[in-house]
Amino acid sequence: MSIVERMFVEVAGGETRQVDAGREAASDGPVLGDALDGLAGEIDGVLGSISPVGLTADGAAAAIAGLERQVRRLQATQVKLFAAVETSRAYCADGHFSARVMVRHHGQLSGPEASQRQRVSAMLAILRGVASLYAAGGVGTDQVRRLARVWSNPRVRGFMELCEAELIMAATKMEFLDFDRFCQQWEQAVDVDGGHDPAERRWRRRDVKASQDFNGTWGLNGRLMSLDGAEFDEILSGLVSTLREADMEAAKAEYGDDWRQHMPRTTPQLRYDAFMILVRRGAVAPDSRSAEVIVNVVIDQDTFERQLGELVGAEPAPVIPREIAEALIAGTRFSRTINGVFVNPAEVAARALTDRIRRVVVESPSVVIDVGRTQRLFTGSPRLAAIMQATRCYWHGCTRPATQCQVDHLTPFRNGGQTSTANGRSACNGHNLTKEHGYQVSRGPDGTITIIRPDGATVPTHTTHWQQPRDG
Ligand SMILES: [Zn+2]
Repeated sequence: MSIVERMFVEVAGGETRQVDAGREAASDGPVLGDALDGLAGEIDGVLGSISPVGLTADGAAAAIAGLERQVRRLQATQVKLFAAVETSRAYCADGHFSARVMVRHHGQLSGPEASQRQRVSAMLAILRGVASLYAAGGVGTDQVRRLARVWSNPRVRGFMELCEAELIMAATKMEFLDFDRFCQQWEQAVDVDGGHDPAERRWRRRDVKASQDFNGTWGLNGRLMSLDGAEFDEILSGLVSTLREADMEAAKAEYGDDWRQHMPRTTPQLRYDAFMILVRRGAVAPDSRSAEVIVNVVIDQDTFERQLGELVGAEPAPVIPREIAEALIAGTRFSRTINGVFVNPAEVAARALTDRIRRVVVESPSVVIDVGRTQRLFTGSPRLAAIMQATRCYWHGCTRPATQCQVDHLTPFRNGGQTSTANGRSACNGHNLTKEHGYQVSRGPDGTITIIRPDGATVPTHTTHWQQPRDG
């Protein structure tokens, strides 16, 4: 048994003993203390073994994943300890009002961190499958915390219990960015009571305002509707990347290889500048339609028709949380921009005819069956179909959104690669160039991308690590 596992057993033992206020659980301390001493020694060993000398890409990838797994197990141990403090009421003896207060105090945690631990602890008491996987390091802390955010919605808790297997599947197989969107869409779809009426009320009460504080600076306040927010986000981030590229070119011209240290603006500064450009453009030409931006909303046919039906008063279809989770994992249910930003399907249906939204209804992720009013632009276009297969650059770990990518031939054109949906994928400028340095990229039947290095070895990805059998 490893040290972390031993700590688990000991913490679990403490959990079952009920300790009244005022009574010390003196025997628990030293046993857990021994395990912690052992752990401290092991961590010294790990610390001593990390060095940049001779570190290869493969070695680094394995070390990152391996260390992450152990850190997750320790974080799961913290949650288990929290539960033990709560169940044993050990916090009462020193006058703490709750386990959260005691853990916050002795762990020197921030308030939000202590609350987070409490939320995760409450969820793991019910979702036992997630709890044991977390204890084994098989699911990440970020994913567990994301699930706990869904858990904080009491209307969907029961559904989470029902769909635990699907939630685990999504949490372990997807990149975090995709899992985050999965959670968002699943919660929206199964929370029938929370989803519908408030959206309409929010629309009636829509408001954005700027208010000045005593320093003279201004704060912006307001919440954008789902579609408007997606449009705003797309326009702003597009402008940010244009500005950043211009900065980059200027820095390269002046400083050569050292350009990274001489980027004149940070990302927040770029966002601010981009925002002000948008505001000033509005002042110059308030009714100009020349620079109109169209947001492509990609939605599956079933969801779109169901939402349209509900708009005209049809009986809402029954919500089956497990089927929704399965469809989200399989990629057959979606309502998003091309970059993957979730948009509320009820809003898409209600505003399907407005001129600033182009809906793209698709039967499966690559078959376009209806592109709203601008059909001729897209019909038969391998480009759009290729873009819609992925929401971002295909390279492992890259998060550059699809609209800032070019469609790349996976098998290069000069090597006989076809200009077809099957051979096209979105790639950012940088990775298009990287691939030219002897990398080979191929796509499996399930859509997974394999990248071969110039030396013939496969570039590892997170799935290659996490699918390996658990080490003892
Ligand atoms: Zn990329």
